[in-house]
Amino acid sequence: MSKLSEQILRIEDAYAEVDRETAAFARESDLGCPDGCGACCTDPNVEATVSELLPMAETVWRAGRAEEVIAWIEDGGEGSACFAYQASSPDGRQGKCGFYESRPLVCRLFGFSGNPDKRGTLRPALCWLMQSETPDDCQRVKDRVRGEMTIPDGPAHAMKLFGETGDTLRMPINQAIRKAIDRVYLARLEG
Ligand code: SF4
Repeated sequence: MSKLSEQILRIEDAYAEVDRETAAFARESDLGCPDGCGACCTDPNVEATVSELLPMAETVWRAGRAEEVIAWIEDGGEGSACFAYQASSPDGRQGKCGFYESRPLVCRLFGFSGNPDKRGTLRPALCWLMQSETPDDCQRVKDRVRGEMTIPDGPAHAMKLFGETGDTLRMPINQAIRKAIDRVYLARLEG
């Protein structure tokens, strides 16, 4: 197995742990994304590290779509919403991730994790849309996190992954996927 494949497996293990924590938080808090919502994916400023995107780059590669994705980015997609987003409504807010199972860490934690305040206490970083549409539910969750409920620690998961990969440089997600596909391509060339 190549070093890159081993690294991807370790990243996937880290993602499985994140998913377990966010699923437990979603269950306990009864918090969920609005049906079919993909608004967070329409933001061209979503940033990730190249390493975060390696599992997705591998999936894109295996699906035989690497050239298509790179061509789309080179044709002006770099500053657009994420290449993986598949909008299904005229305003683009409804939609889904075309590579959901291999999405990066930032997407796994979005809306379902907390950031520490000055005292190190985790504060929920909830989705802006959920906060505007269901403010009472979001307030209830914030109150419970101040009390008895635990929430995934976003920066701790990021640091753990950065420790694993040594990669801390965030960039727009379409730039990151392009570089990640390049790394997968090079690893395949080296055998
Ligand atoms: S990788 Fe998937 S979940 Fe993340 S921003 Fe892109 S479309 Fe959305």
